[in-house]
Amino acid sequence: MSRQSDPLCVVRDLEKHYPITRGWLRREVGRVRAVDGVSFALERGEALGLVGESGSGKTTVAHTLLGLETPTGGTVEFDGDLVSELSGDAERSFRRRTQLVVQDPDDALDPRMRVGESVAEPLRVHGINRVRREAIVADVLERVGLGEDDADRYPHEFSGGEKQRISIARALVTNPDLIVADEPTSALDARVRSDILALLDRIRREFDVAILFVSHDLGVVERFCDRVAVMYLGELVERGRARDVLSDPDHPYTRVLRSSIPSLDPTDRRLGRPLTDTVPEPSDPPSGCRFHPRCPAVIPAVDLDLSHETWRDVAAFRFAVRADELPPEAVGDGPGTTDADAVAPTDVRRAVGLEGELADPDAERAVVEAAASLAAGDAEAAAATLDEAFPTRCERESPTAVERETGGTVACLRHDPTTEAPPVADGGTDRER
Ligand code: SF4
Repeated sequence: MSRQSDPLCVVRDLEKHYPITRGWLRREVGRVRAVDGVSFALERGEALGLVGESGSGKTTVAHTLLGLETPTGGTVEFDGDLVSELSGDAERSFRRRTQLVVQDPDDALDPRMRVGESVAEPLRVHGINRVRREAIVADVLERVGLGEDDADRYPHEFSGGEKQRISIARALVTNPDLIVADEPTSALDARVRSDILALLDRIRREFDVAILFVSHDLGVVERFCDRVAVMYLGELVERGRARDVLSDPDHPYTRVLRSSIPSLDPTDRRLGRPLTDTVPEPSDPPSGCRFHPRCPAVIPAVDLDLSHETWRDVAAFRFAVRADELPPEAVGDGPGTTDADAVAPTDVRRAVGLEGELADPDAERAVVEAAASLAAGDAEAAAATLDEAFPTRCERESPTAVERETGGTVACLRHDPTTEAPPVADGGTDRER
């Protein structure tokens, strides 16, 4: 039996993998590792933001937590009970106490049902009689800013923001302990978004309901949530108090996400751009730290006589070749290319920002060779040269989560006290020469 002081929900080592099958025997040939070992706790009445780019696994975590997906590993505990072991009345109670608000309210509302019927539907499922249902519906519609008369209208008669209010009323009607709000404001314009956030905030305090707020919008999460957990490619990379993590992120990925929020603060420029834009497939995640092919703070594995900016440029060159993200000026057209189309090694170097001769002779040799391979249209040879010349520590070692100074955790080798590569403020490396 759990106590009031215990977390409402505890997620431990959660995994959700989807098999990739082939042939009529549906032989498993791989796995999409949508969620891969995620752990966190959700306190009663708190708002926890779950953030990350699309494909990071945050919606899968939310659905698995609600029992809408079966985990392939790990556990979800709700109020002391394992969700996977609930049945009968206990499962019905769990369904009543946990509710989902989705991004598009049209997905939650039946266009043929009057709003009152839609909002009352969960009460009917739980056996509440009609008179009581109507009283509860009138009450929640008023609490979300709608009128009692709105119960008799149909969803198409409402604006997008009003429909989201109805969808929130539908979630509230069972007096839940947890609402999972999956991108609840991303389909709305800025003014309506603010109204819905204010409504959710008021409801959280009035009803003492916990909210798991799934979003890619860090600005919204910073305003609305007490704590935040940041996901990248199926893993949690950083978590802590929202205002600490989002105002001064430790993890290079959170810095990259943070830098995508327009800011007038010039110090935000230090937050960094990713080396490459392509998010790898969760069916084939990179070795070591999954963020390494994009990380502007990636740690060199060999001693090179390069400034931190130059190391970052050669690493970006290496991973851009692998991700097929080179600028058009750097790509030769291969055998049969006419003189007019040809790309020279100097064009390649200029396009990737490595025009000048590098101080480190081994690094210079590798860049010359890779540029020549690319000019000849042989990207595979260029990739092999760069892989060998510019290995990173981060592709060999997987970071474990360590405590952040301001509380919470961060999973990055630069924050591991046993590493010799210290944290960096600008997304570069530690080597200043
Ligand atoms: S472990 Fe390396 S690649 Fe991963 S976030 Fe830290 S510095 Fe970047």
